[in-house]
Amino acid sequence: MKKVTDKLIPVNEPLLDGNEKKYLMECVETGWVSSEGPFVKQFEDAFAERVNRKFAISVCNGSAALEVAITALDIRENDEVILPAFTIISCAAPIVRAGAIPVVIDSDPQTWNIDVAKIEERITKRTKAIMVVHIYGLPVDMEPILALAKKYNLKVIEDAAEAIGQTYNGKSCGSFGDISAFSFYPNKHITTGEGGMVTTDNEELAQRCLGLRNLCFQPERRFVHEQLGWNFRMTNMQAALGLAQLERLDEHIKRKRQIGRLYNQLLADVPGLQLPLTHTDYAENIYWVYGLVIKEDIDFDAKEVMIKLGKHKIGTRPFFWPMHEQPVFRKMGLYRGESFPIAERLARRGFYVPSGLSLTDRQIQRVVQCIKDIMK
Ligand SMILES: *Cc1c(COP(=O)(O)O)cnc(C)c1O
Repeated sequence: MKKVTDKLIPVNEPLLDGNEKKYLMECVETGWVSSEGPFVKQFEDAFAERVNRKFAISVCNGSAALEVAITALDIRENDEVILPAFTIISCAAPIVRAGAIPVVIDSDPQTWNIDVAKIEERITKRTKAIMVVHIYGLPVDMEPILALAKKYNLKVIEDAAEAIGQTYNGKSCGSFGDISAFSFYPNKHITTGEGGMVTTDNEELAQRCLGLRNLCFQPERRFVHEQLGWNFRMTNMQAALGLAQLERLDEHIKRKRQIGRLYNQLLADVPGLQLPLTHTDYAENIYWVYGLVIKEDIDFDAKEVMIKLGKHKIGTRPFFWPMHEQPVFRKMGLYRGESFPIAERLARRGFYVPSGLSLTDRQIQRVVQCIKDIMK
């Protein structure tokens, strides 16, 4: 094994080598630092065009984007919203806060996305919406979901945080359904430090989102409110970063795919590991993260491998912990007696290795050598 004196390889390091500095300096020099600055609208317009939506509403992070989306769709007490068990808490939190019920579905064992075939049996009279989440770089199979939404008159919320620049059958992720949400956290395909976006083609929904992100101030008389909103505004400095990053999105996707392909190639013959799919019928992976799943015949799990990689200064993260196993939801009485075995296995046996945009091929080789030594 390699010596422990090797330099740390962080699980993610963003790439900020385009116009980021120039646009940020412009904020400082002009004094436009708040959400009133000109980059905010520029970033929103450029983003809307890129994902092929009529409206893009920037917010302060991806979790806020989902909060705004759920509220704009008027999800209420006792409504049911269907979503994957295997996702981040940001998806379920706004549903629960609205007093609605997050009904979860197990994962597809190959794509790790929601198992589309299991959705229809969970639709009831109370179902109001389906929230799809594109997981780790491969899009959800949207066609059957859009068909179900039509058949049962359901809203579709699309969480495209991990699919910026990804397409499904050639159509942009973040352009499906009623409303879509994005995050620009530094590990996403483009970053604003913290930041997010809501996109939609529906003008009324867009107006509601604009209100909700800005405390529901009203144009007629400021400080008089008909509804409660939040201050979820994005700053001009964040938007400056976002605009520069968006200019590089195609290159970022290209590099992410190179990283994914190199890992796939170097890890192909390592026994006991399930690698990410390179593609499906409808998309090529953009490897938001490079995930690995320890196969079931191996008598150790992801935790042990992550500890060993950590000793060799290689950053890792565990996979998501499924919603039905979240202590916070169990305490609320949700998911009693429910079990989703694929999501449970992914949570225990899955982890991801460094795959940030600043990662070098040499670093990938070091990560792979360590994994090979551990899996022997
Ligand atoms: C990152 C992420 C979020 C949350 O975004 P933040 O900006 O961190 O709040 C939501 N959903 C998915 C699928 C994500 O990957």
